[in-house]
Amino acid sequence: MDCDVAILGCGPVGATLANQLGAAGLDVVVIERDARVFPLPRAIHFDGETMRVFQSLGLRAEVESISRPGTKGMHFVNAEDRVLMVRAGTAAEGPQGGANNHYFHQPELEQVLRDGLGRYPNVRLLAGREAMAIDEDGDGVRIALDGEPPEVRARWLVGCDGGRSMVRRAIGSTNEDLGLHQPWLVFDAILERELDLPDHTVQRCDPARPMTMCCVTGQRRRWEIMLMPGDDPEAIARPENVWPLISRWVTPADARLERSAVYTFHSVIAHGWRRGRLLIAGDAAHQTPPFLGQGLCAGIRDCANLAWKLVRVARGTAPESLLDTYEPERRPHVLAFIELAVRLGAVIQATDPAVAAERDARFLQGEAQVFEYPQPGLGPGQHAGGFGGVLFPQPRLPDGRRLDEALGNAYAVLGEAATIDAADAATRERWRAAGAVVLRDPGEAVAAWWRTRGLSAVVLRPDRYLLGAARDAHELASVSALMA
Ligand SMILES: Cc1cc2nc3c(=O)[nH]c(=O)nc-3n(C[C@H](O)[C@H](O)[C@H](O)COP(=O)(O)OP(=O)(O)OC[C@H]3O[C@@H](n4cnc5c(N)ncnc54)[C@H](O)[C@@H]3O)c2cc1C
Repeated sequence: MDCDVAILGCGPVGATLANQLGAAGLDVVVIERDARVFPLPRAIHFDGETMRVFQSLGLRAEVESISRPGTKGMHFVNAEDRVLMVRAGTAAEGPQGGANNHYFHQPELEQVLRDGLGRYPNVRLLAGREAMAIDEDGDGVRIALDGEPPEVRARWLVGCDGGRSMVRRAIGSTNEDLGLHQPWLVFDAILERELDLPDHTVQRCDPARPMTMCCVTGQRRRWEIMLMPGDDPEAIARPENVWPLISRWVTPADARLERSAVYTFHSVIAHGWRRGRLLIAGDAAHQTPPFLGQGLCAGIRDCANLAWKLVRVARGTAPESLLDTYEPERRPHVLAFIELAVRLGAVIQATDPAVAAERDARFLQGEAQVFEYPQPGLGPGQHAGGFGGVLFPQPRLPDGRRLDEALGNAYAVLGEAATIDAADAATRERWRAAGAVVLRDPGEAVAAWWRTRGLSAVVLRPDRYLLGAARDAHELASVSALMA
């Protein structure tokens, strides 16, 4: 079975990438060991940028139907429930064209993404098939499977095969370890009657038993509870041992336990996301402890960064070297989130009472600290530097549409009419050849971004990060020259 791109793993990252490549018309085969979506509790939060990527798949409405916007943020409290620190929440429409935070049940999201593949006859999902071996040669990759068909041949293989990735091993990547490895019990409960529980996320920094409590969707509630020395990881996940841990908030008379599992939270990032025709994305490339709810988001950003490059290289409209920009651009961005999650982990996971008391005294000195997610730019790569590599927002156009609805998944040139009209013929030809959408004077909400920075035009890559920004037609020509 031959294809342009084989994707190993149909978790959220593999399914997202398959939707992107399928929409672009590539022949894609997705190989997934499990016949159905993985049912155990994992991610419950994604951010506004991640929703914007789902929007680019044409699945925004479907994802909205299984998620809820989170407006109240995340509160870090001590054992006496005093607020130490807050990740801000807001009910307002954020810069990405919707809520800044969304809550969901990962198996439902994965089902939406998997169902989305049905739109593309050029995407074939081999579910219930395990990849056993990978051979790469100059022309392509051969993936040996455990059943029929016995093998898949692809021009490119992307390993979205999770933390134990065999593609990462085949690449020979090394893992940089950021030091956090801690087992936690994770379980979801379905409330069967109304209870007075917080509707924001609570990180209980109780040295006797650190714990996270979240409102997911509908009646579903999530608890994540740190294992303490002496806990038996198998025994603690049994219902008779789970309930006493949360009896202060809920009892078997109020709710039913849906699923429970013990996970070890890791903080690692691979060096080497590509070798030849092999690439990795998502947990295969990096894992972050879930204290920020960002592991899956990072994987979805990998897809946004990689898909448009892979499409152009596979079609022969960009040189293969474009793929070399994937890791250098994404790595520092992911690292910023992992490092913050590790720092928060140190706050939450302090189990020495003296250390926790010192921490509480430090945080309780003034007002509770309020923080936001980091907003790093991309590392060096396919952009002009300066504003290049910065994520452009998604404001509303004068007709009420979100910006990306008018742009599709192409390059975009946005700017003052005077700057765009002054572009020379060669620049216009570049825009045409790259299939760029050009918007002159797209309305104040969009133009505010460049006007407040003394600029007059921007060029956006298909992933909505800036290729570059320009003050005038001359600079616009230089930025446009970078279009793949
Ligand atoms: C308790 C917990 C809470 C979390 N909370 C959040 C959160 O709130 N927000 C957030 O953004 N992230 C969160 N995460 C992280 C998030 O769940 C992961 O980052 C995400 O699932 C990674 O997706 P993936 O597709 O890269 O990998 P996976 O979901 O692991 O998928 C990999 C797939 O590859 C398949 N596969 C592997 N090897 C083979 C093979 N040889 N042959 C065939 N198939 C194969 C597997 O069967 C699997 O389906 C959380 C994680 C945990 C554990």
